[in-house]
Amino acid sequence: MTQNPILARLSSRMMRRRQQAMANIPKQLLRKDTITVVLVGTGGPLPSARSQYCTAVSVNGKFLLFDAGDGSSRRMVDLNLPYGDLDTVFMTHYHADHFADLGEVIDRSWIAGRRHTLPIYGPPGIEQIVAGFHQAYTLEYGYRTAHHGTEIMPPAWAKAQAMPFQYDANGTPVVVFDEDGVQVSAFAASHPPIEPNVGYRIDFAGQSIVLASDSLPTETLLAQSKDAEVLVANVMNMDAIQQMQTGAVEMGNSLGAHILHDIQDYHMGLPEMGKLAQKAGVKRLALTHLAPPVEQKYLANRLFRRPVAAHYAGEIIVGEDGMQIVLPVP
Ligand SMILES: [Zn+2]
Ligand SMILES: [Zn+2]
Repeated sequence: MTQNPILARLSSRMMRRRQQAMANIPKQLLRKDTITVVLVGTGGPLPSARSQYCTAVSVNGKFLLFDAGDGSSRRMVDLNLPYGDLDTVFMTHYHADHFADLGEVIDRSWIAGRRHTLPIYGPPGIEQIVAGFHQAYTLEYGYRTAHHGTEIMPPAWAKAQAMPFQYDANGTPVVVFDEDGVQVSAFAASHPPIEPNVGYRIDFAGQSIVLASDSLPTETLLAQSKDAEVLVANVMNMDAIQQMQTGAVEMGNSLGAHILHDIQDYHMGLPEMGKLAQKAGVKRLALTHLAPPVEQKYLANRLFRRPVAAHYAGEIIVGEDGMQIVLPVP
């Protein structure tokens, strides 16, 4: 079948444009004079067009990824993030909306040119998760090498390395990563009965970025968030979830109503989040893992910004997939 020459020209022009765009974005993101936080996926387990939770931080030329829920790998590709330059992954806890795409993250970063074993830090349990993905992807790794050759798809770098760490349940942070002035500490998060579960704090050049994980407000989170440049907070609008629960009851969906009831007791409410951020002196509060995961901007603002703004005077960012927060390095 012969191809229409106009279509062929158009599609090759589109491909070239995309390739040019792809070449530029990694350079911007990996600059050493800025720290960039990318809200890759801003949804949670409730179904929506948002990708599930995933946050990337680019700092001092390092590309760090925190969690990888369903859809986050595809979102990273859509955003032209520098997949092949992925340095290290950190996991908060083992609800699937935080790790469902980890197998894709390992595989795609290798296909995109990663030439080191990918370290994946997490509290105990990470060994089991990484081993499971390796087992599921063994055939895939083999096919890629067989088809493209060992130079393009070197089997030595296909896999990840689980890096389990212990943390202090009472709240003292532990440094789990310390390279070229970039420190990442893990601290206990409260999401009962889900254990283990940690939040992370990234420190570089006197600036700190805190990722709360799925958590209730705690003294530990308050202490770790002190004067943070950015606090990335997983939040829930309790009134809206309660309304959804009532709706589920009315529709005779008792299973859905039960789940919507249960999830309210282990997530961060908006007034509590605003008060914590205000008390800690956080400069920017980025709301993510939005529940309910509304897609319309005006609705997200209404449901999430207003209840926080009543208690917090700093900058509020209502997360959307792909949003970037860029900070100059002092
Ligand atoms: Zn979650
Ligand atoms: Zn969770």
